Amino acid sequence: MGRAPSPAVLDRLSRPLRDVRISLTDRCNFRCQYCMPREVFGPGFRFLPTAELLTFDEIERLARVFVSLGVDKVRLTGGEPLLRPRLPELVARLARIPGVEDLALTTNGFLLTPERASALRAAGLGRVTVSLDALDDATFASLNGVGVGVERILAAVRAAAEAGFSPVKLNAVVKRGVNEHAVVDLAGRFRHTGHVVRFIEYMDVGSTNGWRFEDVVPAREILDRIAARWPLVPVAPARPGEVARRYRYADGAGEIGVIASITQPFCHGCTRARLSADGRLYTCLFAAEGLDLRTPLRQGADDGEIRRLVAGVWRLRIDRYSEERAEQGPSRANKVEMSRLGG
Ligand code: SAM
Ligand code: SF4
Ligand code: SF4
Repeated sequence: MGRAPSPAVLDRLSRPLRDVRISLTDRCNFRCQYCMPREVFGPGFRFLPTAELLTFDEIERLARVFVSLGVDKVRLTGGEPLLRPRLPELVARLARIPGVEDLALTTNGFLLTPERASALRAAGLGRVTVSLDALDDATFASLNGVGVGVERILAAVRAAAEAGFSPVKLNAVVKRGVNEHAVVDLAGRFRHTGHVVRFIEYMDVGSTNGWRFEDVVPAREILDRIAARWPLVPVAPARPGEVARRYRYADGAGEIGVIASITQPFCHGCTRARLSADGRLYTCLFAAEGLDLRTPLRQGADDGEIRRLVAGVWRLRIDRYSEERAEQGPSRANKVEMSRLGG
């Protein structure tokens, strides 16, 4: 921590590589309808065998390579990252890497007990985001696809806060006709708590969620719904390339964010790479292909060779899928599932 940033490697649109999302598993204990619909991810679905997952040694090595190329922000995700055994051990290894300034985790919260939250905090995890899309059990259970109720996730948010994560962020995907009513519920519930709810436009990730533009609730509408009740004031981004647009309540009750990937795409500032659980490097959330880093790693490539591979891919990067979608509509087939490449 605290050392000078590494020299940036720029892509073809002059965007530096600054953050990486590492997927720890393609498996999940939820079947959210917008991510892993249960009709597709049923009992017969073939997830990655354990031997194909990157080991902690491999993840740490790749993280060091990313940092040497300018990354200072690492987020652990999935699938559900808390399904990965011995997670605090991995967190401790990543937190120790000089240059990792921000180490975060996104989880559905189901397994985030007070003990786990404390162990992750003690291991050096900096921030936690918990996903929660509604505050009534009927809506939430239908969205998560496995009948889990809201209380368990609220308990996870409390556990995170008690373990010292501050603020806890909450992610809520908003889908038309399904949970629009949850927008004001969630905003109201987390005002005055110090936690930050981020409302996410429903995205056309992967190829299985049956996404339709009509199902998107635009960020503008989300903000209008909240502001009609509690006036909002825009807040400047905390850092360049931040995906959430931030707002604070005019009455001082805290802050919210909106992630408007569909209606206000932010590809021009996108500095993010993704590493799938089986070690593929993706340069866009909507990618159809990634570069296999696991094979060279297991064949004995040294750090310099891996570094050249990553830098080579980044330098050729021209991804701007969300801006293209806004210009000409959804255009790409065979997009890799978000649970696989890391949400
Ligand atoms: N399982 C963890 C969780 O749900 O927090 C981490 C992985 S999940 C893929 C990461 C984030 O992506 C979650 O907040 C989830 O709500 C969001 N997400 C999944 N599918 C989405 C979609 N179709 N549109 C927008 N956000 C989505
Ligand atoms: Fe699992 Fe997260 Fe996808 Fe829901 S959004 S199915 S919790 S990976
Ligand atoms: Fe980045 Fe791709 Fe999303 Fe654009 S669509 S912001 S390039 S991940």
